[in-house]
Parts: sequence; C-alpha cells; structure tokens
Amino acid sequence: MSLSTLARAIAESPTLSLNEQARVLRERGEAVVHLGAGEPKNKAPIGAILSSASRLNTGDVKYTPTDGIPSLKKAVIRYTEEQYNKLVAPENVLVSGGAKQALYNLLFALLNPQDEVIVLAPYWVSYPEMIKMVYGVPVIVRPEDGTFIPRMKEIEDAVSSYTRAMIVNSPNNPSGVMFPPELIGQLVEFCERRNIYLIMDDIYHRLVFDGKTHTPAYRYATRDIESGRIIVINGISKLYGMTGFRIGWVIAPKPIVDVMINVQAQTTSCVSPILQYAAEGALTGIQSVVDSLRMTLENNRNVMLQELRSFDGIKVTVPDGTYYCLPDFRAYNNDSVALSRLLLKKALVVTVPGKEFGMEGHLRLSYATTVKEIKQGVERIKWALDPGAPNEIYIGDKKLVRDWL
Ligand code: PMP
Repeated sequence: MSLSTLARAIAESPTLSLNEQARVLRERGEAVVHLGAGEPKNKAPIGAILSSASRLNTGDVKYTPTDGIPSLKKAVIRYTEEQYNKLVAPENVLVSGGAKQALYNLLFALLNPQDEVIVLAPYWVSYPEMIKMVYGVPVIVRPEDGTFIPRMKEIEDAVSSYTRAMIVNSPNNPSGVMFPPELIGQLVEFCERRNIYLIMDDIYHRLVFDGKTHTPAYRYATRDIESGRIIVINGISKLYGMTGFRIGWVIAPKPIVDVMINVQAQTTSCVSPILQYAAEGALTGIQSVVDSLRMTLENNRNVMLQELRSFDGIKVTVPDGTYYCLPDFRAYNNDSVALSRLLLKKALVVTVPGKEFGMEGHLRLSYATTVKEIKQGVERIKWALDPGAPNEIYIGDKKLVRDWL
C-alpha cells in the first residue's frame, strides 16, 4: 500500500497504545494494575455537566465560531487574569479540541520546513512527533547532569539560526518536576532577546504540591502580549480531570491566533458546543474541584514515593506536581521498553518506558489512580525485579512464580 513517507514516520502514541493493551488484558479478566494512566478517576465537575446538559437540552447544537464561543473565551480570559495576572484580549485566544490540537495548530502556524524547535527532555511524547508532522525538526536538549532540569548553557548551545520556538512543560510530564522561577525568568529573557517563541505548555500548572506554586512566564516578560514571545497552551483535561471533553486553548499574539483560526477552520471548523459549554461550566464553577484533585494527587504521590523508597537501587526525583514520577531503573535494566514489557506480561503492571520521553532507563509511573493500585503496582514491580523480594506472590487466587531472575 502506498502511504506518505511522513505519515509512516509518525510513531504510534505509546501511552494510548498501552491503555489499549491494558483494556484488552482487563477484558480477558486479568487483574491489571494501571500505572500508565494520564487521567484521574474523578467524575466531571457538576458545573461542567449542568452547563453542557442545558445546552444539549435546547437542541441548538450547531457550528460555533471557529475560535470558540464568546462566553468560553471570556471565561478563559478571566482564568488568565486570575491565574496568570495577565490581561489578554479575545483576539489572543483560540479554543481547540484539547491542548493537543491547540499545540498542533500552533506548530503548523509557526514553522516553515526545517525550522527547529527546542524540546527539553524528558518531554511529553507528542512534541517531537507533532513537530515532525509539520516538517519541523525537534532538537532535543537532555540535561547532562542526569537531572530533569536543563542548564541555560545546554539550551543556548542547542539554538541555531533555524530555531523558531522552544516548548517548556513545567510542571512536567513525565517527571513531575517544576522548573525554578529563576530558570523561567532566564528562558523568557533569552527567548525575547533571540526572538524565539517560548511555548509554555501549562496543562498541569495548578496541580502542584508541597505548598509550591507555578511561575507564569508572563511574570518575566518585558514586552506586551503582541510584541512578546510567550505563548501559553492550557486546557481542562488535567486540571479538572475532564480528558474526554477535549477542550484546550492557546493564548498568543493576534497574528498567530489569526493564522491558527484559518488552520482550524479548514480542518475541524470548530469544537463541539456541547464540550465548549462544559469547559465554560468548569472554568466558572466551583474551583475547589481542582484543589481536591491536587490534594488527592499529592497524597498519592506521597504513597508512591514511600513505596518506591523501600526499593533498593531505584532513584526517584520527587515530583513537584502532575500525575507522574519518573524513577531511574537502570540498576535493574537499561532498556526501558523491555522492562515495561516484562512488567506488563509477567506482573500485569502498566508502566510507560522512559525511552518514549527521551529518558532511557527510566519508567513513568502514574499516581493518578487509587492508593490501593499504587501499593499493589509497586509491590508487583518490586517482586518482578528485586532479588530480595519473595519469589512467589498471589494476585487474587492466581499464583505468580518468578522464573526470570
Ligand atoms: N501537554 C501535556 C504535557 C500532556 O500531558 C497532555 C495530555 N497527556 C497534553 C498536553 C494534551 O492535553 P489535552 O487532553 O488537552 O489534549
């Protein structure tokens, strides 16, 4: 079959494919523990459901303006003012089908073929693939010192005359690490000076622990939104646990938003009004839902860390936020894909190989699940890898015998 070379070069989404494998195993009756999830178990906030349902009840479900319904855009503007202390205009906002589509449209709008985008490892799996999909070139910067925080020098060395943008995701999927405010300040200064777009993927920005707070890049901007270099991507998926509602947005200078509107108009017309009203309901409804999700995640993170610390040889960097941590399993196996496969096949635990995030030798473990699953999951990983752990365990009445160490 003849398919485009570019399309064939795009990798399958490892996280979505793992979800599918876990679903199939569960359907077969296997007691799979899912530490691969990128979504929490909460129900959608009531404000979102009521707002969406009342729109559906009117029967008036038609195309909307491509850039989003005015009342949702207003809610995004208010959100930006409250959470970022930044006043933006409706012309700076575009609502898309998830942060994912917002980011894709943005890269489509910004890049010429061969333009480079700096991607900081560990990175979210979709960044390099999306950059390639618009004929750009991802340039990966991997911290030399083995941490998850790059040095400015490493970033500066990776920048060339082709560099058009840099993507920063802090707090970060997959490590949970949040960049210190000084680094955010340096990035803003550098990008303004070098005329590089600084794309802040803030999708986890309120899911931060230990009393810390996220630092908006705008805090360090010396230019206004129109002449500035900062572009913010955000959405409701992670903050409100509304992954299935598929609403995200971008805040950018007007000329960029204008082009993105054309791109979106020619590809999807608009996002469904049912989902847009749900997002408006979430943004204007009770915000304690975000706090309660954050508190649950913080507690889960603590349980995960406690379980991992009883595991000899595993090094784990404490996540400042998000749903994830990225422990270093190199003491057991350097090949994260093989390790993740072994854990799924033999111990029925879903993990995501660090290789997918540009960090070989690590596994991404999600704590956006129940405390029971976190404990069971780590216990099974330990059993599978640690020679000091018992040779047999029971999953329900099924006995697993370790025969590969
Ligand atoms: N950015 C990051 C860092 C993510 O982890 C995700 C979702 N996994 C997204 C963007 C996309 O989010 P959405 O569901 O809004 O498309």
